[in-house]
Amino acid sequence: MAIDPKTQVVGPVILLGAPGAGKGTQAKRIMELYGIPQISTGDILRANVAAGTPLGVKAKAVMDRGDLVPDELVCDMVADRLNQADCARGFILDGFPRTVAQAQWLDGYLTTRVFENEAGKGLKPVVIEIAVGYNQLFKRLTGRRSCSSCGRIYNVYFQPPKVADTCDVDGTALITRKDDSEAVIAERLKAYERQTLPLTEYYKAQGTLRVVDGDRDMSEVTAETLKALENGNCL
Ligand code: AMP
Repeated sequence: MAIDPKTQVVGPVILLGAPGAGKGTQAKRIMELYGIPQISTGDILRANVAAGTPLGVKAKAVMDRGDLVPDELVCDMVADRLNQADCARGFILDGFPRTVAQAQWLDGYLTTRVFENEAGKGLKPVVIEIAVGYNQLFKRLTGRRSCSSCGRIYNVYFQPPKVADTCDVDGTALITRKDDSEAVIAERLKAYERQTLPLTEYYKAQGTLRVVDGDRDMSEVTAETLKALENGNCL
């Protein structure tokens, strides 16, 4: 009997890559196909900032300058999210972990959860890095626009909407994220090189890292990401 991708257990999927590498786009494809939630720490933090929660108040200034929010705040926030019922078959982490300390925390957290596939096989996290060169990242980030209503992401250079500044899906006006301004982008890419790049070494040493060349057509990147996911945890 064929396995239904929307009911099978997928386990944790960790997407690594610089801001603008396309983690969010690939996460949405995996979510649509396998029905497991995309957990974007950037989105959750922005929602907290918008709602003025105590976490949002603490995170706002750090995010506005393109730096990273302290590990303990982000880890607590992720634990709350992963404990929700929709994460029972697995989840896609997009933008987390971002430091080695967060990765170590996540390893500890995951030892408390066992995901088993149809064959009763314990599933390990699949770590996929989407690798993109610096100049391409800069263009992707300065051109990025998103729909504040449905979350769909566009790019004025590579993937423009049919009507300028308007979402194809629901007609909402598109917005530019505050931290997608050029000065802040440079800061975010620096924070990535300084704090997040060591993570690839961390996962390489564990033997779980799969690298996908993200400098290509989106459909090719998606095909390779899905292949990496399927090979990674033997779905
Ligand atoms: P993103 O949407 O993933 O680019 O995240 C936007 C901003 O949120 C980052 O520049 C950080 O300030 C903050 N942020 C998101 N995820 C994390 C994380 N895992 N650790 C620390 N800060 C984060």
